[in-house]
Amino acid sequence: MSPGSRQERTRTALVTGGNRGIGLEICRQLSRAGLQVVLAARDPARGRAAARKLGTGGAPVRVEELDITDSKSVRDCAGRLADSGVEVDVLVNNAGIYPTDAFFSLGEETMGRALDVNLMGAFRTCQAFVPAMAERGYGRVVNLSSGLGGMTDNVPSPAAYGISKAALNALTLVVSAAAPASVKVNAVCPGWVRTDMGGSWAPSSVQQGADTAVWLARLPANGPTGGFFRHRKPIDW
Ligand code: NAP
Repeated sequence: MSPGSRQERTRTALVTGGNRGIGLEICRQLSRAGLQVVLAARDPARGRAAARKLGTGGAPVRVEELDITDSKSVRDCAGRLADSGVEVDVLVNNAGIYPTDAFFSLGEETMGRALDVNLMGAFRTCQAFVPAMAERGYGRVVNLSSGLGGMTDNVPSPAAYGISKAALNALTLVVSAAAPASVKVNAVCPGWVRTDMGGSWAPSSVQQGADTAVWLARLPANGPTGGFFRHRKPIDW
């Protein structure tokens, strides 16, 4: 494929934890916007059930098994996509967990699990997919972070969650600096969103929660990189 025709082809986005909550809504909005979507889920049956409900009118959504805590699962997913000629242009690191323990009752296992999913998961997927983006000269990486990991806000508790999201913000800056300017790497705080994680009393809908992530996933060539955004506006780390 020549560089010219590459510009024209449909972009492909992979969304981790795409089977529910904000991730599923990001899949819906990206598909409606005309992207090819890979809905990645650690349980492919749940992924397929979610994809059936999408009904975006866009191209069929491809479901892939992907447990971001398992390096082999990440490698296998990247390998299956490469073998079938799918080039991931957009990586949305959405999958996350929300342990609520206060610091003095926080066990090492819970802390480790928060880092494994919320930090190392994105580390593994970035290592698997960003080098090819850099090589092809186009990429967008969106890390679903949280204001609860904000250093300028003293990393408000819960402890493991806040620390893991602060670390994800650091990863965002590091990957952004390592990647060429053609690959935009940003973090987003989706706000407090009505999902299994956010609870039914949260003020924002999933549509509102997905909006800034989808905007970052489709940034133009002169868009920002190495930033942290909420409601499409930069916020402090
Ligand atoms: P959610 O409803 O709890 O969904 C979490 C998703 O992550 C599920 O699809 C889950 O899959 C997946 N997941 C968890 N561990 C995984 C693993 N090891 N491998 C692959 N997938 C895994 O959460 P949400 O509210 O949509 O949140 C999405 C993102 O936004 C998270 O990163 C969260 O921290 C961030 N965020 C949310 C809010 C909020 O108010 N909701 C606020 C700020 C930031 P299963 O279904 O298999 O468990």
